[in-house]
Amino acid sequence: MSGRSIAAYFPWRRVKVTNQQVHVESRSALVRLEPDRRFRPRCHGCGGLARTVHSHTRKFVRDMAFGGFTMMLQVAHRKIWCDGCGGVRVEQLEFVDASQRVTCRLAAYAAQLCRSGLPVTAVAKHLDLDPKTVKAVDKAALKAEFDATDYDGLRRLAIDEIAVHKGHSYMTVVLDYDTGRVVWMGEGRQIATLGAFFEAMPVAARERIEAVAIDMWDAYVHAVQTWCPQADIVFDLFHVVKAFNKVIDDIRNEEFRKARDADRTVLKGSKYILLRNRANLRRDERLQLRKILELNSTLNCVYWLKDLLKHIWDYHRPSWARSALEGWYTVAEEVGHPALLRFARRLKKYSFGIVSHCKHKMGTGKLEGVNNKIKVIKRTAYGFHDLDYFALKVKQAFPGKVSNN
Ligand SMILES: [Zn+2]
Repeated sequence: MSGRSIAAYFPWRRVKVTNQQVHVESRSALVRLEPDRRFRPRCHGCGGLARTVHSHTRKFVRDMAFGGFTMMLQVAHRKIWCDGCGGVRVEQLEFVDASQRVTCRLAAYAAQLCRSGLPVTAVAKHLDLDPKTVKAVDKAALKAEFDATDYDGLRRLAIDEIAVHKGHSYMTVVLDYDTGRVVWMGEGRQIATLGAFFEAMPVAARERIEAVAIDMWDAYVHAVQTWCPQADIVFDLFHVVKAFNKVIDDIRNEEFRKARDADRTVLKGSKYILLRNRANLRRDERLQLRKILELNSTLNCVYWLKDLLKHIWDYHRPSWARSALEGWYTVAEEVGHPALLRFARRLKKYSFGIVSHCKHKMGTGKLEGVNNKIKVIKRTAYGFHDLDYFALKVKQAFPGKVSNN
């Protein structure tokens, strides 16, 4: 190493480079930084200038790699007595946050890589950092930008649940339907979960909500009716068909158990054929579907009811939608299967939310898209057991666009 100083690479006020060592074999460099005593230390908590230095301390901080060399800083800094905070605090340094083990510039770079969609583990490997460190800096960057809830411009909401750990815990996602922005996420799917969102919302913003698209889930229905009584509840096709698919599956399982051996071969593997959209079936699958429906009259009726159910969302006039629903109940009652009757009763109770679709054409594609993308985030976000971090990642992924209407 030449005698030239590398201090220019550390152009920070309040500190000075006092020593530099380069280890060629290990391709690493160690730079020592000391407080510049011309400056009085500032409090990390409140930013106030300190009069008294309490003690001196040191920490190692990673910086951007330089010329393929790992760069380690040994930072001497001070603990101070802060009159403003009324206690011992750490000195504020401009290049490293008191809670982090990497410089601000390395943190910004790591956060930028995370933001581009790279998983935390990949970023950690690329920068030769601990994944926990990468997650911490990414989380801090996201918090600064997305932590506060922005209620601006909300008119129509789509609210949905997502399973966080297979069937055990859920999070509620609130989406600005018009812009596609994820407004809020909270743990759980109870009345209180959504209640917390609405309660924190300014009254004027709450009163501006015109429609809320949700699943036929009692807790959400009650929460919306309690906090936004003026808003129309809209049950979207995606969720209703999803719920009806469960009915089909129950009936299919039951019919399979009852079937003779010869019929079982036809019913075998029929689950996805019955649940998938007919348009997405291959030729041989369509053939099998026809065989299944010819073989089993209950399944035939239920399958037909699914098509009929989807058509209800095509109506523009509430009176037509209502009479189509009535027709649907009649057929369901005639088929008379218990699972089907339970579903029909629920549909009847919530018919207002189906008819309101005529007034608010809230499509389902958006919700499906969000659901699928969230699943990808769940897979790539390291440590999504940290639900706060997961929620911030989702908010970042759905910043929303300005609506055209
Ligand atoms: Zn202070």
